[in-house]
Amino acid sequence: MRKRQGKVLSEHQAGNVSRLKPATSTPMMVGSGDITWVCGHCDHHLAEGIMPGQINNLILICYSCGALNYISTELESGPDLPSSN
Ligand SMILES: [Zn+2]
Repeated sequence: MRKRQGKVLSEHQAGNVSRLKPATSTPMMVGSGDITWVCGHCDHHLAEGIMPGQINNLILICYSCGALNYISTELESGPDLPSSN
């Protein structure tokens, strides 16, 4: 499993990018891929088991801290992050 952090944007930076807001603390999407997206601010899990390219140009709002986490395919190819679990 590869762990990736969303890029935290300000309200202004986020602009008109589509946003998903979670109803509960569980990850908004769970699939069978190998990428886990976590909040770039607090490390809360936003989406798990994501396939490469599955989420692109979308903002996932963190349930825990409310940060606007921008997800894109470019961020998928960044360095591996240490796993916290
Ligand atoms: Zn957060």
